[in-house]
Amino acid sequence: MKIICIGRNYAKHIEELANERPETPVVFLKPDSAILPKKMPFFIPPFANSIHYEVEVLVKINKVGKYIDAKFAHKYYDEIGLGIDFTDREMQSKLKEKGLPWEKAKAFDGSAVVGEFYPKEQFDLENLNFQLIKNDAIVQDGNTNSMLWKIDELIAYVSQYFTLKKGDLIFTGTPAGVGKVASNDVLIGILEDKEVFQVKVK
Ligand code: ZN
Repeated sequence: MKIICIGRNYAKHIEELANERPETPVVFLKPDSAILPKKMPFFIPPFANSIHYEVEVLVKINKVGKYIDAKFAHKYYDEIGLGIDFTDREMQSKLKEKGLPWEKAKAFDGSAVVGEFYPKEQFDLENLNFQLIKNDAIVQDGNTNSMLWKIDELIAYVSQYFTLKKGDLIFTGTPAGVGKVASNDVLIGILEDKEVFQVKVK
């Protein structure tokens, strides 16, 4: 399986990193080795000085598809979840400056936290609240109603480039509030009223 990630999909997050608002979705990939095994702590990698959390709504693809029309995109997923796109922000900034690929900063082992999945019918996907709690404080508080591109539009867009396969995940971008993690932090993901993951940082 593969993980397709969307960058710069929330205006306030674009502002906080002083990025340009893109004309089309920003897309990058993580390999399956990026998934943090369930119940495992996240170990800050030895090369990293500035690991940031980015909480994101996840979509699990349920069948193969290519050139999917946005109006049929809902047929390609039954479940959604929440996860973290861990990012070495300092390294990413250096790579961006040089116009180099981001993978070392975004796709390293453990960089993809994947929480529980739930049937999409349980939610209003266009008005879905989600939060990241760090050590009892809400640090990110998002709603899918402020996405620049909605889930179905993202599926249509990325499937022009990548054949989607059953089990692929889409990370749909992070809202504002990203920040650094430190050893002993505890990160909890909330989707509406459900706790969907808990990660200890070591
Ligand atoms: Zn992200």
